[in-house]
Amino acid sequence: MELHELTLKEQLEGLKSSSFTSVELTEHYLKRIKKIDPEINSYITITEDLALSQAKEADTRYNNKNPLDLDGIPIAHKDIFCTENILTTCGSKMLSDFIAPYSSTVVSKFIEKGTVMLGKTNMDEFAMGSSNETSYFGAVKNPWNKEYVPGGSSGGSAACVAAGLAPAATATDTGGSIRQPAALCGLTGIKPTYGRVSRYGMIAFASSLDQGGVLTRSAEDAAILMNVMSGYDPKDSTSLNVEVPDFSQEIGKPISGLKIGIPIELFEQDMPDYVRKNTNEAIDIFKELGAEIKEISFPNIDLSLPVYYVLAPAECSANLSRYDGVRYGYRCEDPKDIEDLYMRTREEGFGSEVKRRILIGTYALSAGFYDAYYLKAQKCRQLIANDFSEAFNSVDVILSPTTPGTSFKAGEKTNDPIEMYLQDIFTIPANLAGLPGISFPCGNHKDLPLGLQLVGNSLEEGKLLMAAHHFQQTTNWHKDMPKV
Ligand code: GLN
Repeated sequence: MELHELTLKEQLEGLKSSSFTSVELTEHYLKRIKKIDPEINSYITITEDLALSQAKEADTRYNNKNPLDLDGIPIAHKDIFCTENILTTCGSKMLSDFIAPYSSTVVSKFIEKGTVMLGKTNMDEFAMGSSNETSYFGAVKNPWNKEYVPGGSSGGSAACVAAGLAPAATATDTGGSIRQPAALCGLTGIKPTYGRVSRYGMIAFASSLDQGGVLTRSAEDAAILMNVMSGYDPKDSTSLNVEVPDFSQEIGKPISGLKIGIPIELFEQDMPDYVRKNTNEAIDIFKELGAEIKEISFPNIDLSLPVYYVLAPAECSANLSRYDGVRYGYRCEDPKDIEDLYMRTREEGFGSEVKRRILIGTYALSAGFYDAYYLKAQKCRQLIANDFSEAFNSVDVILSPTTPGTSFKAGEKTNDPIEMYLQDIFTIPANLAGLPGISFPCGNHKDLPLGLQLVGNSLEEGKLLMAAHHFQQTTNWHKDMPKV
């Protein structure tokens, strides 16, 4: 077995038992990245020198018998997380020269535990997209079939893990950007409860929805990384000051008696037969594992997508107003006056999807339309949260497909934003309610992976990881790797 075929957990065991060194493991990945990534385009920056020096330090700690928790484990970071003295682009021309002056809390936590940074991964511009085609640094290919998209916005993180170019990668999810690429690339991806993971130094898209998480090859690996990234951060005012369980212990808890809710309205949605069939097979597996299946109702589910596409653009229009050519980031050449500076900087620095969102957002927030759109959307957001609260009175987790189908061909949905937005129809409700969600592989169709989603009650990531872990004990979908 080659080193990249091991899970992160197995790699950690290998490092601890001196079966290989961190330098060997890191060099193995760097070599693969150089060979394979030119075609996949999953990395924007490869931090080779840093990785090798971090790996050497880790090996020294192993030799001195005082290793850190994740010592010597290579990892990739989505290019939305600020990394001190390293290019941090957020997939945009606007930040294409931006060297972050400090590291995000997530990245700092991983460094403190001894991980090795392989590089920064490609993404849709400012995390807006579902196919990784809006990146200023070019589209990312799906390692399962290079004519297909890896999903987005964390498409680079997903593609690099799927292709064996990193054992795991950080990612962010505002409406589905961890779970949808996880589904399309055959990975496990978890979006924690809003506030579980610090947003400090994570470039903002829609602040009330954004949440950092991870993409891995198994629920076990996700649990290990969740232990590192979770926890209170005084630098983020929305960070939750609550105890963090040991997720690696949580996954070992029994599944029998777990109540899984199936939203009836969800299965009334238009979906291809293979998605319905696969989801039903996954339900049967959970039944065999001893879970109880219950039908639940989600009367306001249809509001999710329209609510999201008012609120996320509204918040992004405010967050992105800071890119004005004055403080940092791209600046247009030879501005005639301040207005010209603002206008041309933003005209030249942002791509068309980002501009579309800013326009929709400023419209929804404008004096004449605020009540009709923004305020109304906020009220509907509460209705969706209420549906979840009601559901969690009778079930532990809610099951659905992650996406309406397997991956789609590059270019197929680029001219139809609504079609693209529909990718997140099953994932967006969890963000609106601030709840944790996980996606994991549950089958494939025409050699492309398919994902299953579980959404849990607030702070119950442990149950999601536990259920996914039990599923992965009896299925092999998560072990499949594409031939690259
Ligand atoms: N695809 C969704 C969007 O474009 C979600 C993105 C995300 O979760 N960052 O807004």
